Amino acid sequence: MKKLQGIPVSPGVAIGPAFILKPPDLSISKDSDKDPEMELKRIQNAIETARKKIASMHEKAKRDTSSEHAGIFEAHSLILDDPSLLEMVKKKLVAEKINAETALSDVFDEYVQKLEALDNEYFQARSIDIIDVKKQLIGELLGISNNDLLKIEKPVVLVASDLSPSETIQLDKDLILAICTAHGGPTSHSAILSKSLGIPAVVGVGQDCFQMSKKRIVFVDGNSGEIIIDPDDDTQKKIQIKLERVCAESKLALENAKEPAITIDGRKVEIVANIGSINEARYVIDYGGEGIGLLRTEFLYLKRETAPSEEEQYQAYNEIFRLIGDRPVVARTLDIGGDKKLPYFDLGEEANPFLGWRGIRICLDNPDILRIQLRAILRAGSGRDLRIMFPMIANLEEVQQAKRIFQETHDELIQKGLCSEGRVQVGIMVEIPSVAILAEKFAKEVDFFSIGTNDLTQYTFAAERTNHKVSYLCDACHPAILKQIQWIINAAHRVGKWVGMCGELAGDPDAIPILLGLGLDEFSMAPSQIPQAKMVIRRWKEVDAQKLASNVLNYDSAESVRNHVKTYKQSPI
Ligand code: PEP
Ligand code: MG
Repeated sequence: MKKLQGIPVSPGVAIGPAFILKPPDLSISKDSDKDPEMELKRIQNAIETARKKIASMHEKAKRDTSSEHAGIFEAHSLILDDPSLLEMVKKKLVAEKINAETALSDVFDEYVQKLEALDNEYFQARSIDIIDVKKQLIGELLGISNNDLLKIEKPVVLVASDLSPSETIQLDKDLILAICTAHGGPTSHSAILSKSLGIPAVVGVGQDCFQMSKKRIVFVDGNSGEIIIDPDDDTQKKIQIKLERVCAESKLALENAKEPAITIDGRKVEIVANIGSINEARYVIDYGGEGIGLLRTEFLYLKRETAPSEEEQYQAYNEIFRLIGDRPVVARTLDIGGDKKLPYFDLGEEANPFLGWRGIRICLDNPDILRIQLRAILRAGSGRDLRIMFPMIANLEEVQQAKRIFQETHDELIQKGLCSEGRVQVGIMVEIPSVAILAEKFAKEVDFFSIGTNDLTQYTFAAERTNHKVSYLCDACHPAILKQIQWIINAAHRVGKWVGMCGELAGDPDAIPILLGLGLDEFSMAPSQIPQAKMVIRRWKEVDAQKLASNVLNYDSAESVRNHVKTYKQSPI
């Protein structure tokens, strides 16, 4: 038996035989003295076949995931249709009289190198798409269109170096029990696709995952990132029990998803959703979400060449409010910077982007961006339960400045009759330790806090959230984070303000009873986590959760906290 640890990217647990996905052999040799006409014809045929395959993958993605995710395949067909790429290949064929494979490969490689040199995440993501399309075209030219995925006949755990979006979308949900990859990160296209396909997945496991061979049995825990190869008898029994329990629990949780989250002794908490697209808003109510606790508005600005206009933003927010009805919506103002870059907005070179020009810092330096966004949100949210939230707040001056811009914008819209006079709550994300420490001062300035444990953890442990080498440090269940949460909640409650949490910790079943015990008012998480979170809360008494919380605050590691929750007598986990 061997245990490995990776980054959990798609929840769920599964066990099964390993299937090692070997990348197809796409090695090519350079031939010369070729007829350019003939070679061009071969390329055109390959493009035609690839176009048909990409169209059918696009259809499958639309059926099985969401139109946003299916957009990856639209990007692939745009690459196929790019006349400049084909023109460059043609020139190479004529000038060098080489074979189609070499010409195509050289042109695509040069293009990828140029994009990667730009040090811009948008273009780097495009280079992943270009590599994916190149592989498909070379495969067609070499006649290797059948990949190993088609050989899977019975349910397996798929083990791969990494998966491209086109490989991920081909996965058959009935045959792929779980995914385990050596590389890849939580924000990769394939991680996002596996989550929306509902396949448990752990990425970034490292080369150790190739210790698995066909004969090995592998357990994948997409919630914790744990991988167990060849579990011994005792562990197998525990896994079996876990699988049965997870299955029965998710069925029960879904059946009761629309019921409120009230503890046995009558404390009700609000369970809302984190969303980052219009499409996700469609699922919030079905999963029992009582509103939106974090609308990541970046989706309107990313993956495009120009900034969205006020009108465009207004239409998008309006659609979200229409889908959510009269439930509360916490709209977070633009949080770019860090790992989120825009091709049309120069953030400049930074040695440490996560410690740099990000979130509210950019918006206060470019107040027009903030004003346009606030106008669109306020107009769309007029007469609704709208709450505005500012990200990456580090000091009191930033809150005061942001509030001033908000107030001026709101007053102007009211005067022009574009927005009702109803009160709009204004809050901040608590995701930088300076705010946690001075929570008492910030609480007087705002209507609410929403704790962003993803960033609060990276800034507390000085461990970048996207760097898998330091991911072992980033467990928000650590008492160093829990104590800050306690401090923040107490400071806000003393002056009558409410506290939510929209970091990943809010949907973590180990953390939920602790957060309940610490007095958290609102839990915001991915829509699919809502049914289970509600069920966990219904199984606790607030008084027991308070005892649990005060116990774990004295522990000295995230691991000991998690172990304590799991063994606590009333814990359903
Ligand atoms: C957080 O930092 O916890 C958070 C919810 O914000 P984001 O993950 O979008 O940075
Ligand atoms: Mg954050």
